[in-house]
Order: sequence, then structure tokens, then C-alpha cells
Amino acid sequence: MDGCIFCQIRDRKLPAKLVYEDELAVAFEDLNPQAPTHILVIPRKHIATLNDLKPEDETLVGHLLTVGKAIATERGIAQSGWRAVLNCNSDAGQTVFHLHLHVLGGRKMHWPPG
Ligand code: AMP
Ligand code: ZN
Repeated sequence: MDGCIFCQIRDRKLPAKLVYEDELAVAFEDLNPQAPTHILVIPRKHIATLNDLKPEDETLVGHLLTVGKAIATERGIAQSGWRAVLNCNSDAGQTVFHLHLHVLGGRKMHWPPG
């Protein structure tokens, strides 16, 4: 989608440290990491928010979590623990309107989140 920075990263029009990609998803390092591991996993398909999910996206969203698990395993944080975050709209702090799964780990997380 025009003007979407994550579509531009997907299309290699904006630089990013890519860590994984397949036919459905792309993963890259967050520009402003909040933990030693902070990766964003995006669907190739532009979906603005969780509110825009359609029934046919169910497998795709599950795939984002599967990719997140693989990254957590590869980074060695699967057993110590990691957090999967999907922010939706302003009260949740969503700032980029292309669906993205945050994969966070490598430090103790707090609960409840701020
Ligand atoms: P959210 O607040 O859930 O919408 O998260 C957006 C995330 O995207 C933030 O953690 C930002 O640090 C990250 N971000 C914004 N621009 C870029 C970029 N060009 N490359 C990588 N991460 C980015
Ligand atoms: Zn997009």
C-alpha cells in the first residue's frame, strides 16, 4: 500500500535488518528495540489493524505466531521466555498501520504491560 513503511520494507524500498522471510511473512529488527530481542513479524499482505482481519486471514495470523516462535527458538529465548504483542489502534499504542507481531525477549518482562 502506498505510503506504508512496512510495505516499503517488504519491497526493499526502505532499509531494514531482515531476519526471516517466506511467501506469507517478513521479519526484521525493530528500529527502536525495547528488549535485547525485538523483532517485528509482518504479513506480506497489507492489513492495517487487527480490526481489519477477515475470516480468510486466520491462517496468516497463525503463521505470524509460528514465525515468532521460530525466531524465539533461533535466538535462544524460547525457554527463558518471550512476549508476542499485537497493538491495535491508539489506546494500545499502535503507530504503524500495517499489522505486525512484536517478538520481545532476552530480559524479564513486566506484567501488566504499561
Ligand atoms: P506499534 O507501536 O505496535 O505500531 O509498533 C511499531 C514499531 O515499529 C515500533 O516498535 C517502532 O520502533 C517500529 N518501527 C517504526 N519504523 C520502523 C522502521 N523503519 N524499521 C523498523 N522498525 C520500525
Ligand atoms: Zn503496508
